[in-house]
Amino acid sequence: MTGLRESGQLLPDQVQVLVVGAGPAGMVAGITLAGYGVDVLLVEKRPEASELSRAMLISTRTMELMRRWGLEAAVRAKASDVEAYQYVTETLAAGTGTGTEMPMAIPTRPEAALVSPTRPAWAPQDDLEPVLLAHLRTLPAAQVRLGCELTALFQDDDGIRATLLDRATETSHVVEARYVIGGDGPYSTVREQLGIAMEGLDHLGGYESVQFRAELDGVIGDPDRKPAVYMITRPDAAGFLSRRGQGDRWSFARGRAPGQPGLADLDDAGLAALLARAAGVDTLRPRIERFSSFALAAMLAERYRERRGFVIGDAAHRMTPRGGTGMNTAIQDAFDLGWKLAWTLRGWAQDDLLDTYETERRPVGRHNVDFSAAPPTEPATAAETLPWDLNGRLAHHWLRPAEGTRDEPVSTVDLIGDGLTLLTGPEGKRWTGAGAVDTGPVPLAVHTLDLATADALGLPPAGAMLVRPDCREIQRWQEYEEAAAPRVGSLTPAAHALLAAD
Ligand SMILES: Cc1cc2nc3c(=O)[nH]c(=O)nc-3n(C[C@H](O)[C@H](O)[C@H](O)COP(=O)(O)OP(=O)(O)OC[C@H]3O[C@@H](n4cnc5c(N)ncnc54)[C@H](O)[C@@H]3O)c2cc1C
Repeated sequence: MTGLRESGQLLPDQVQVLVVGAGPAGMVAGITLAGYGVDVLLVEKRPEASELSRAMLISTRTMELMRRWGLEAAVRAKASDVEAYQYVTETLAAGTGTGTEMPMAIPTRPEAALVSPTRPAWAPQDDLEPVLLAHLRTLPAAQVRLGCELTALFQDDDGIRATLLDRATETSHVVEARYVIGGDGPYSTVREQLGIAMEGLDHLGGYESVQFRAELDGVIGDPDRKPAVYMITRPDAAGFLSRRGQGDRWSFARGRAPGQPGLADLDDAGLAALLARAAGVDTLRPRIERFSSFALAAMLAERYRERRGFVIGDAAHRMTPRGGTGMNTAIQDAFDLGWKLAWTLRGWAQDDLLDTYETERRPVGRHNVDFSAAPPTEPATAAETLPWDLNGRLAHHWLRPAEGTRDEPVSTVDLIGDGLTLLTGPEGKRWTGAGAVDTGPVPLAVHTLDLATADALGLPPAGAMLVRPDCREIQRWQEYEEAAAPRVGSLTPAAHALLAAD
């Protein structure tokens, strides 16, 4: 290895996958690939972690991914203790019963308990990102370089050549990779270098946010309620107040129509006075941490792949904050592409599998972009958004605990591994025999379910179902039939497409 130094580390000359951007999308792509042992280099132009709060809602499916990586408790520890609804009120201090509850497009605790082993979290993006980065850094196959910017890309049939700029020393280095993933945000250099255009609505106005600290627990007029968001209606301070994770951290945000004066026109004293009005406490002395302003757009990349290059996250779609789907869609794109690329690089699947990244993830991007830009006539409900979040994964059911054990409860979703997983009914012993299911080079894990769980999945006692790493079912058998033993050649076309050639 030769090349630039960053924190005393060399940049490699060659890697299997280059990931550009250490936002949530890039880091999850790195975590997924490195989890499969794929040699991955992640470069980020910022020299350190971002302190921008931005996303607050971590969705049900995203929390399931955190659970998969053993990060659920770490993320939950950063989250606010709130419920999934908005409270419309004149000010934060307005008295008990003066406001109204409005649903959000997020399942409540009881709703989430019906569909998932976990539930959404209300934790700021600047708290989530360090958890992801720390985990990524524990994976031996991953190398992370901060302060390193991608400036140019070239690809041919054999691979990618990427020029990286060390921003501290202003020296450039060329890295060769089999594939490149652009997780480099809305103004993606990767997307531009791959020649992928964006389509949709740009310049939809602005969104402004103030991150601040203040002891507000004692002033909340309706202390028995714990809404995720307070929608403040007082005309001289209208906007959205929400807790940012733990402690006294809050944010105040509001949209800004094009050409209208905004929060940027206020100095710190003006901002403090505005926050005091929103809180309904004249004497409030908030400590302002930062002000930020975002340009709103609802845009989608015309395609997600150009030969050996891919775009994920905000590089592939730009959404307004409505619905809280930008980061969640980004994380789920990254996981989807990550396992498919890992399967391909490990020789478990053919290149065709990579095309399914776009066919399966772009419709979700399309839906979430459109949803984010739709005029808010009726408040959206979790019933509308949840199918797009869970996106066809098998149903969650708790397994019946083995007698005498006091282990943590296990969900059907928890059983799904990195290769293929076969779930059988309680009389499915024959499925567990060597060679009963031939999945070619793809590792197979077999789990025999108890009767109640199999029944809940609609699986007969001697039946079986084959599941992908993203928990999607690809084939099901009603019973074991020796004559039709499901070897690779007898799998459905959908299943076969996922496997390497015979
Ligand atoms: C106010 C606000 C509220 C939001 N609320 C929510 C919410 O509640 N839930 C939700 O799901 N989403 C929300 N979002 C959206 C969410 O913040 C984004 O969708 C998310 O950050 C996208 O992650 P990403 O990794 O794709 O991109 P980014 O987070 O933008 O990360 C891209 C990274 O790439 C780096 N980079 C760029 N170019 C290069 C280069 N050439 N070389 C190296 N590095 C590069 C950047 O420095 C950056 O760190 C909100 C957004 C805003 C603005």
